[in-house]
Amino acid sequence: MTNEELIRKREKDKIYSREWRKRPGNKEKMKQQSREWREKNPERAKEHYRRARERHPENLKNWIRKNPIRYWVNESIRHHKRKGYEVKMSKAEIEEIAKKTLNCPYCGIEIDYSPLKGKVAKNSPSLDRINNGNLMTEKTTQIICQKCNKTKSDRTHLEFIGYCEQITRKFKDLI
Ligand SMILES: [Zn+2]
Repeated sequence: MTNEELIRKREKDKIYSREWRKRPGNKEKMKQQSREWREKNPERAKEHYRRARERHPENLKNWIRKNPIRYWVNESIRHHKRKGYEVKMSKAEIEEIAKKTLNCPYCGIEIDYSPLKGKVAKNSPSLDRINNGNLMTEKTTQIICQKCNKTKSDRTHLEFIGYCEQITRKFKDLI
């Protein structure tokens, strides 16, 4: 094959695969295949993504802008695993909770999932282990605002309520 033929063939292949991707179901098929490849080659996949991030840092930023909740979920899972908690929830499950949790269950403030503001805000979301256990499942985890989570600290749900009640009772003349 001459150089020219080779170039022509590559061009043809490119057009063919572009058309192939457009056909119904093929995009999903490709996603599935690359998911399987990533599972079989975790180290190579990691390296691949690291290089891609280095080459195109703007892609990650754009992705975060388009997927703020998913980004927050990924970061939260990583954070909690690193702290030694047993996270038994999938990303999709946490994302579902996030989509339903528009306000903090304790103080009612609107939760802001947008991550590109730099620092964590008071109304940023945070994963809360409701009864302060090590195991994190859909039943034992909720999303509350950062400020409430700081105040709740290592208290269980009932301890937190009791704590608030105690303060309210003590200063009831003020309210
Ligand atoms: Zn709150």
